[in-house]
Amino acid sequence: MSEVPLTAFDAVVVGAGPAGSAAAIQLARAGWSVALIERQRFPRRKVCGECIAASNLPLLHALGIGAAFDAAAGPALQQVRLLAGDDAIAAELPAAAHERHRWGRALGRETLDVMLLEQARAEGVTVLQPCVLQAIQGTRGRWHCDVRPLGSVASLRLRSALVIDAHGSWDALPFERPGRRVGHGASDLFAFKANFSGSSLPAGDIAVLALDGGYGGMVVADAGMATLACCIRRDRLARLRSEMPGVRAGDVVEAFLRRACAGVRQALDGAAREGPWLASGPLATGVRVDASDGIFRIGNAAGEAHPILGEGLSMALQSAALLCSHLLGATASVPDAAAQAGMQRRYAAAWRQAFAPRLRLAAVFAHLAMRPGGTALLMALARRWPGLLTQGARLGGKVRFAAPIAPPAAPRAPGRASAGAASRTP
Ligand SMILES: Cc1cc2nc3c(=O)[nH]c(=O)nc-3n(C[C@H](O)[C@H](O)[C@H](O)COP(=O)(O)OP(=O)(O)OC[C@H]3O[C@@H](n4cnc5c(N)ncnc54)[C@H](O)[C@@H]3O)c2cc1C
Repeated sequence: MSEVPLTAFDAVVVGAGPAGSAAAIQLARAGWSVALIERQRFPRRKVCGECIAASNLPLLHALGIGAAFDAAAGPALQQVRLLAGDDAIAAELPAAAHERHRWGRALGRETLDVMLLEQARAEGVTVLQPCVLQAIQGTRGRWHCDVRPLGSVASLRLRSALVIDAHGSWDALPFERPGRRVGHGASDLFAFKANFSGSSLPAGDIAVLALDGGYGGMVVADAGMATLACCIRRDRLARLRSEMPGVRAGDVVEAFLRRACAGVRQALDGAAREGPWLASGPLATGVRVDASDGIFRIGNAAGEAHPILGEGLSMALQSAALLCSHLLGATASVPDAAAQAGMQRRYAAAWRQAFAPRLRLAAVFAHLAMRPGGTALLMALARRWPGLLTQGARLGGKVRFAAPIAPPAAPRAPGRASAGAASRTP
């Protein structure tokens, strides 16, 4: 007899990136029944610089993947190096106050995201993957999510008291508010990433690249693999592509990076690219969290900073912890519609307080790094006061955890459906 699928949950979480899996783990631990919908098969590579700031390591341990992370991640990141043209300026990164987790490290998303998702599964989360979310209907306390397994024509209707949008920022959800997406303009940023083996990039360095028309970063991640990621303006990319007709965008970008930056040339001299360049975009930076439509948002779905600071994973993990601390509060019971409305307002305010300054700092840094005049100013300041880079990393959130880790609430029967929503399809 085929297994009867559970179709009613306390919470449906859309997207199994770091934000979605982290939230699902915390809610499931508190006894909530949680469905986690992910449209891609894992493991999958992802456009990301893959640096995880030290501030997140205690949370990874609390979520249950700390030992696996410690065993797999790349070397401790203790120095930042600002690269522009033939110039390079290095500064110490700030150390976190935690006695065991003082430095950030880098880990490929094909590994990190699997670790978190498997932990969610182990905590009793119902993982629907690969499944596409087709529609969200309803209101706080009474949601319907139509989900279609990839390759199937039939869809499944999930009922839930709460919907958490953790689907990132690359695509629209079938429940978007108007005006959310960025328009298409010359300044749109497209993101690229590739991995290289045999690179001579110093282990323990985060290299930040200031480019004319973009910015990027390089780091040694797990298994000695270097990650090179960058963002390039639409108009700059179009010009570069017109100079190399018929060449793939990633290869055009790699040629540009090697040409524009001596540090990239040196790091990649003798290195071999592993796999193709990945590309996505345009970036949709800005704040999206609010309390207007009843859906809770975390990670990039809540707001996205220019990735020049490499703080997006922090914001994903920490916004999940912040939301869960609001949802779980003093009691583990699932909040009703009225309680959700209050929580949503308080969560949105707390999110802004915690993360909006990082968005502003990242925007200033990114816009300076993308312009030759701004880069000249940055390099002059950093040469005169290298401590500014250290202080910038500190202000950007590298060592400060912005949210309480949700206390483990008194557990209820794991994986059960909520009283208000329990049902099974025949
Ligand atoms: C060039 C670049 C470099 C970066 N470097 C760093 C760095 O070094 N350090 C750092 O901390 N951050 C970095 N970031 C930012 C970081 O990658 C993101 O902030 C982070 O991935 C956000 O996590 P998330 O969980 O919110 O979303 P995501 O990681 O985007 O996960 C969303 C998930 O939702 C799934 N999904 C989407 N739509 C649907 C749907 N309709 N139904 C079901 N599933 C869906 C997706 O498949 C995906 O798995 C970088 C970003 C870029 C662009």
